[in-house]
Amino acid sequence: MTATLYNHSLSPADAPAADTARGPCPVRSILIVGGGTAGWMTALTLSRALEGQGVAITVIESPTVGIIGVGEGSTPWLRGFFEGLGIEEAEWMPACDATYKCGITFEGWCTKPGFESYFHPFASMLDNLTMTQFVHNVESRINGADVEAHPDRFFIAARLAERRLAPKPTADFPFDIWHGYHFDATLLGQFLHRQALGRGVRYQSGHVTHASMHESGDIAAVHTREGEALTADLYVDCSGFAGLLIDKSLHTPYVSFSSNLFNDAAVAMPSPIGGSIPSETVSTALKHGWAWQIPLTRRYGNGYVYSSRYCSADEAETELRTRLGLLDADVPSRHLKMKCGRVTQHWNRNCLAVGLSQGFIEPLEATALYFVQKTAASFADVLIRGSLGEAARQHFNQQVNEHFEGTRDYIVTHFRTNSRRDTDYWRDNAANPNISEPLQKLYALWMAGKSIAGGVREQAIGKGYPVFSWYSIMAGMGIFPDPAQLRPPTPDEARYRMPEIDDLLERSATHFRDHREVLAQIPPRRTAPGLQIYLW
Ligand SMILES: Cc1cc2nc3c(=O)[nH]c(=O)nc-3n(C[C@H](O)[C@H](O)[C@H](O)COP(=O)(O)OP(=O)(O)OC[C@H]3O[C@@H](n4cnc5c(N)ncnc54)[C@H](O)[C@@H]3O)c2cc1C
Repeated sequence: MTATLYNHSLSPADAPAADTARGPCPVRSILIVGGGTAGWMTALTLSRALEGQGVAITVIESPTVGIIGVGEGSTPWLRGFFEGLGIEEAEWMPACDATYKCGITFEGWCTKPGFESYFHPFASMLDNLTMTQFVHNVESRINGADVEAHPDRFFIAARLAERRLAPKPTADFPFDIWHGYHFDATLLGQFLHRQALGRGVRYQSGHVTHASMHESGDIAAVHTREGEALTADLYVDCSGFAGLLIDKSLHTPYVSFSSNLFNDAAVAMPSPIGGSIPSETVSTALKHGWAWQIPLTRRYGNGYVYSSRYCSADEAETELRTRLGLLDADVPSRHLKMKCGRVTQHWNRNCLAVGLSQGFIEPLEATALYFVQKTAASFADVLIRGSLGEAARQHFNQQVNEHFEGTRDYIVTHFRTNSRRDTDYWRDNAANPNISEPLQKLYALWMAGKSIAGGVREQAIGKGYPVFSWYSIMAGMGIFPDPAQLRPPTPDEARYRMPEIDDLLERSATHFRDHREVLAQIPPRRTAPGLQIYLW
C-alpha cells in the first residue's frame, strides 16, 4: 500500500478494477433524504461516478430541521474526495475558512512522566525513512530496553505541527507530505451544495414525514408534509441521527457502542484566533471527557465531548468556558446529543444509509466524513459493477461493518489506556471490561513484548487504522515497562541514533513555511512522487 492511496482511493472518480465486469447502472433515479455534509458528499460522489448515464439524483431537505453543523476536522482521505471531483484547494479552502491539519495532539490523557502529551501524525512518504526506526525502538522498549520510543521524536508531521508550519513543502523537497483539513462545517455544506447543483444534482425543499412500503418490504415512496409522494429506484438516508428511512421505516437493527465508548453529549463554542494559525487539532482530556480545539482561518472551533452519566450539560459548559477564559463572555454555546454505534446493514433493501444515519463513532479522531466518503464511494463501485444482488449487498455491509469495528477499537484504546485516576469517568474507562476480542489479543501481544503488526493487518482491527497508528497510540500513551525497570539497550536495540533522526527531521522542516503565509497563497497541487510507504 502506498501513501498515494490517500489521494487516489475513494475518490469519486474511481473506476472499478479492470478485471471486474462493468454493467449498465441498475438504477435510473436516486433520492437522497437530507442535505447535510453526508447528503451532498454522497450526491457528488454518485453523480461523478455515474456521469453521462442519465441517472437522476435528487436531494430533499427539510426547511425546518437544520444540519448538525459540527464536524470540522478531517482525515487525509478528504483530499482524495476533492481531487476526484477536480476541485482545487485554492477553490474550496478559502470558501470554507479551511486550514491544513498535520494530525492531532493528545494532551493530558496520560500522566506518566514524558508521555503527558503525544502527537498522532498523518503518515507521509518521508516517514519511510523513520518508520522502521520507530517500530524497532518501540519493540525494544516494550522488551525493557531504555531507548527513545516517543512517537513525537520520529515523524515530520509532529515537527511541523509543533512549529505551526503548513504541510506544504517547497518545490525542491522530494516528498509529498500528507495532511488533513480543518473547515467550517456550515460553509463546507454550502460549498458542496453549490457544487452539486452545478453538476446536475436536483434540490428540493420538503419535510419528509414517512415512507410507504411495498409488500416486499422495500421502500415504495417518500412522503412530505407538503403533500408530495416522491419515488426513486434507490433511496439514500442522509437524514442524520433521525435515521428516517434506515431506522424509522426499515427498522434496521442497530449495534450500540455505548458500553465501549461512554460519551454521548457535546457542547461547542467558538473562540478568537490570533495571528498565527496552528496546523493541528488539539484534543485535551478534561474531567469527564475531552475537549477539541480546531483552528480555522477566522476562529477556533471548540467543543467538550463528555458522558452525561458523569456530568451535566451545565457542568460541561462551565468547565469548557473556564478553560477557554469565556466564563462571563457573551459567546453562544451549542449542546448536542450523540448516539455511538452502527446499523447492521448500511445497505438494506432499496435503501443506503450514509452519515450519522448509518452510525457514528465519537469524534475523537474526526473519522465521520471518512465513513461518508468510503460508504458513498464503495456504493458507487457497486452501481458501476451493475449488480445489486444479495452477494454484493452482504459483501458491502461486511466491509463497512469491519471498518466501523476497527475504528471503534482504535478510539476505545485512547480511553482504555488512559492513566488518569482523578475522576470516576477516567477510572471507569481504564477498567472498562467491554473490549473486543481482537483488541484484547492486540493488548496481550503488546504486553508480551511481541510485534503487533501482523495481528493488525490480519484482523478487522487493521481496517480502521494502519499499523503505525497502533504503534503510535500505544507508545504515545506510554504503555511501556516502568522507567525503573528499563535496562541499558543491547547494541542491536540501540542501533538507531536519535541525533541522526533529529537531524533529518530538522533539515526537512526547513522546507516548510508558516501556515498563514501558505494559506494566503495556496500552492498549486503537486503530483505525489509515488514512493512506497509502510502504512498498513
Ligand atoms: C460533537 C460532534 C463533533 C463532530 N466532529 C466531527 C469531526 O471533527 N470530523 C468529522 O468528520 N465528523 C465530525 N462529526 C460528525 C459530522 O458532524 C457528521 O458526520 C457530518 O456532519 C454529516 O452529518 P449528516 O449529514 O449525516 O447529518 P446532518 O448534518 O444532521 O444532516 C441531516 C440532514 O437531514 C435533513 N433532515 C432531517 N430530518 C428531515 C426530514 N424529516 N425531512 C427532510 N430532511 C430532513 C436535515 O435538514 C439535514 O439536511 C461530529 C459530530 C458530532 C456530534
